[in-house]
Formats: sequence, C-alpha cells, structure tokens
Amino acid sequence: MSDTLPRTELSSLGEFGLIERIASRIQLTQDSSVKGIGDDAAVIDPKGLHQVVTTDMLVEGVHFDLGYVPLKHLGYKAIVVNLSDVYAMNATPHQVTVAVALSNRFPVEAIDELYEGMAQACAHYGVDLVGGDTCSSASGLVIAVTAIGSAKKEDIVYRSGAKENDLLVVSGDLGGAYMGLQVLEREKAVFKETGAQPDLAGHDYILERQLKPEARKDIIELLKKLDVKPTSMIDISDGLASEVLHLCRQSGIGAMVHDQKLPIDPTTYRTARDFNLDPSTCALNGGEDYELLFTVALADHDKIKANPHLTIIGHMCDAKEGTHLVNSQGGLHPLLAQGWDAFLKRV
Ligand code: ADP
Ligand code: MG
Repeated sequence: MSDTLPRTELSSLGEFGLIERIASRIQLTQDSSVKGIGDDAAVIDPKGLHQVVTTDMLVEGVHFDLGYVPLKHLGYKAIVVNLSDVYAMNATPHQVTVAVALSNRFPVEAIDELYEGMAQACAHYGVDLVGGDTCSSASGLVIAVTAIGSAKKEDIVYRSGAKENDLLVVSGDLGGAYMGLQVLEREKAVFKETGAQPDLAGHDYILERQLKPEARKDIIELLKKLDVKPTSMIDISDGLASEVLHLCRQSGIGAMVHDQKLPIDPTTYRTARDFNLDPSTCALNGGEDYELLFTVALADHDKIKANPHLTIIGHMCDAKEGTHLVNSQGGLHPLLAQGWDAFLKRV
C-alpha cells in the first residue's frame, strides 16, 4: 500500500457509504445488464443463450502478497482470472459480481485503488460490475469474483470432448508468470535482509505476466475467425501438466506432450536458468499463465499450424497409452501434475 495516499478511515464511510462510492463510479455498458448495483439482486437478460457462471477467490497470504502486489493490479487480476474461465468455455463474459472482505487497516483510498483496477479490467473486456457483497475481515483481504457469460448452446466447449488423434494446442507462452513470482520473491527477501530497493530491471515481461495477466479473449475470437471449434478446452491456471491431465481424465483418453515444443519466452528461459531451474519444468508446472489449452480435430491442422499465437505441443491418444512427456530423444516420462502449490514447496 502506498504511504503517499491520503488516509480516510473506512469506518468514516460505513458499509453503505462504501457501496454508494463504488456504485457511483460504475456505468452499465452491456445490453444484457438489466439492473446493476442497488437492488437485492442484479437482473440479467440471457437473450435466449446458455449462461456460463464461474467463481474464483483470491485470499491474502495464499494467492497474493500485498508486500509487492499493488492493489490496482490485484483488482485487475481478480477480474481477469475469472474471465479466463468463461473464455475457456468458448463463451463471452458480460457481467461480474465482486465480494470483498476488508480489514479496517485499509483506508478508503486503498479500496478505491482496488476497484480502479477492477474497473479497468471490466472496461478492457467489456463486462459490467453488477453487484457484490462487502463485509469485514478479522485478518487478511479476501476477494471473490463471480463472472457470468453467455454462448450459443452449440458453441460451448467442455473439458470432456477431446478425441484420440486430436491435436493438443496451447496459446501464447508458458512459465512466465511463475518466473515473475520468483523475481518478486527474491527481491522481497533481499529487501527484508538488506533494505535494498528491488532490482526488477530487465524482467518487465515476466513481471507483467505475474502482476497483470490478461485473459485470452483474442484467442477465442481468432478461433472463430479461423472457423475452428476446439473439441475440448481449459485455461491454464495451475500449470500445463495439471491441465493436460484434466482434459485427459474428463475425456477418457491419454496424451503425448513434446517437451521440445513447449512455447517459452526467451526472458522466461533466461530467468529460469539464472535461478537454476529447468525452463521446461517451469512451463509445465508454474501456474498462473492464463493461456488456453485446447484440442482440435486433425482435419483443422492447416487452419492453425502457422499461427504465431498458437503452438501444437502434442496429440491425444488412447487411454491405454497413458499421458506422457516425450523428450527430444523420443523417451517417455509420465506427465505428473505437480501443480502450482506443490511446485512452490519443492523449490
Ligand atoms: P444485502 O444486504 O441485501 O446483501 P447489500 O447492502 O450487501 O445488500 O448490497 C446492496 C447492493 O450493493 C446490492 O446490489 C449488491 O449487489 C451491491 N454490492 C454490495 N457490496 C458490493 C461490492 N463490494 N461491490 C459491488 N457491489 C456491491
Ligand atoms: Mg450483501
């Protein structure tokens, strides 16, 4: 929290004053938002479409550390991680609700920062903040966001639709958010020990991946343009390995993932090496990349093969063959979901 902000105690506003303050800065932009903040519940017109609803919670000390995460970024990220789940259904988000538990150590100005970040994300993705809940917290900050989207019934993509021989495709690049976190943790430790100001130079890309992730709305639009409907899809929040296993389990098949094909940005690669970490392991198990992982029919190969935003990393196979990582010599290793938490503890 910045020390330069003026400090107005939350108690001077009260819960209703705070809600009014939040509501006064919000304008509805979506046709489907019939009623926003102010009544007992929001009203949404689904216009004959299927609705997609998802909730994610961010807990201080578990998901974020206010020692190095600015509140505006936190607000932005809280919205983005939820929208990512809606896009992963091949649907379009239109509304969010936000519940916050606040301790009185936050001044009103800090809440303004948090909501400013949320408002920026809402504006960027074209969604309305239509409601929420506010309560006090005896300890840390908790933010729960629910995102509501819609899609035609026939456009919705589930985790369970992958078929044998489908291509396994990932958007963007992997491992960056995890390496960004490593840099932030290192600088925090140095600051604690020596008081030295953080040295974040040269790490812009991976810091942005960690602090200001984006949801891949553009990939959903790209797939529509390419006339490709994935057979299954999931967003990468816990790490590629874990998400591949989800697709496999829910589709009842196996997969081969090629180690050499994993898309890794040069900055991520270099930083992993500096930290004595294997870049592939970071790409497989470092979480929070918020890229999309999906499968497409082999017949769609030509439509996606040369696209710079998409990388074919493997293919789906019979369940009996299992789920494996294939190395450059063709050796097979069972793909293990170490996930984000387990990975953090191991390092
Ligand atoms: P109730 O007691 O019926 O739950 P509230 O006083 O909590 O009502 O909420 C009043 C209105 O303000 C509702 O429309 C609710 O969705 C909205 N609201 C409450 N807290 C928030 C918040 N943190 N962010 C956005 N809207 C909120
Ligand atoms: Mg309430």
